[in-house]
Amino acid sequence: MIPFLDVGATYRELQPELDAAYRRVMDRGWFILGQEVTAFEEEFAAYCEVEHCIGVGNGLDALSLVLRAMDIGPGDEVIVPGNTFIATWLAVTQVGATPVAVDPDAATYNLDPDLLQSALSSRTRAVIPVHLYGQPAEMKPLLAFAEAHGLAVVEDAAQAHGATCNSRRVGGLGHAACFSFYPGKNLGCFGDGGAITTCDAELADRLRQLRNYGSPRKYQHDLLGVNSRLDDLQAAFLRVKLARLDDWNDRRRDLAKCYCERLAGVPGVAIPRVATGSEPVWHLLVIRHPRRDALRLHLRNCGIEAMVHYPTPPHRCGAYAQGGWKGAELPVTDQLAREVLSLPMGPHLSEEAVNAVCDAVTALDSRARRAA
Ligand SMILES: *Cc1c(COP(=O)(O)O)cnc(C)c1O
Repeated sequence: MIPFLDVGATYRELQPELDAAYRRVMDRGWFILGQEVTAFEEEFAAYCEVEHCIGVGNGLDALSLVLRAMDIGPGDEVIVPGNTFIATWLAVTQVGATPVAVDPDAATYNLDPDLLQSALSSRTRAVIPVHLYGQPAEMKPLLAFAEAHGLAVVEDAAQAHGATCNSRRVGGLGHAACFSFYPGKNLGCFGDGGAITTCDAELADRLRQLRNYGSPRKYQHDLLGVNSRLDDLQAAFLRVKLARLDDWNDRRRDLAKCYCERLAGVPGVAIPRVATGSEPVWHLLVIRHPRRDALRLHLRNCGIEAMVHYPTPPHRCGAYAQGGWKGAELPVTDQLAREVLSLPMGPHLSEEAVNAVCDAVTALDSRARRAA
């Protein structure tokens, strides 16, 4: 059996360090906004090559708090990719603004910068590029577009910890960036967690208040804040795992290279094009296949677990069935939802497993050819 992702493997690899982190926090007896959170925020800001990091409760809160801190709300529009996890859209809806969807480039699966103009209106305030599957979005034309129209750029980097675009880390490419530390992400904790990175000191200050009841100091509440804080225990675990992130990402790149070499030219299989200048971190290894469901079933019969990210795009979800979003037709998004398949990927996957998966993928079509 080859699992899609072995989440428990990171604990087995780092057990002594993680257990020590647990004991350190327990012995200290300080669990909220303590020194582990501060230390992690400093370390993660340095890692992303930015000035500030603000730990929050999860990736969705990171996105909605940034929009709130930018005073984006009712009457405003925010450009989002059609092809993304629904959290990108929900954050916009949560602050009362309207998501305006743009179809992806069919080769990179990421937001197509050529379509930004068609989504622009006098109400547009921001754009949220998503570094989907760990592949940085094409930032250069997007940043130029945002600059020309006075829009804020909020990166959704929930799947791309450590990726780079033109030698700069994601997290520092726009005005602010949002991360998730959900256990399955490239940098994940053992529960929920998230963070915002930015070089804007004023924005960072607002975010520190907003995440903590709008409070600059105890029992003074200047803003209508929320309670969404990364906790000390998770921060202590994240510090241990952050030290391993580059090695793990390198490992993912090696495995992705194996996959891409072996699957290139296999009939029916398309692999995503990596945008020029970007160094992805392969959160997911997503291929396309016209008979995706048959391929997934075939893999399952071979003992291989594959997943679909995502079977239902946000605009087809019940949550947006009554409207609440804008945008033209999204034919590429719809087609991707029918054709994408995520193969097993993770730093603890073996080359033998990757070869076995590639053998199985290749066998689907040789079987079909024999049958024809
Ligand atoms: C995981 C994810 C989020 C949300 O993160 P949570 O921590 O689960 O709230 C947002 N955007 C994308 C692209 C994600 O993959």
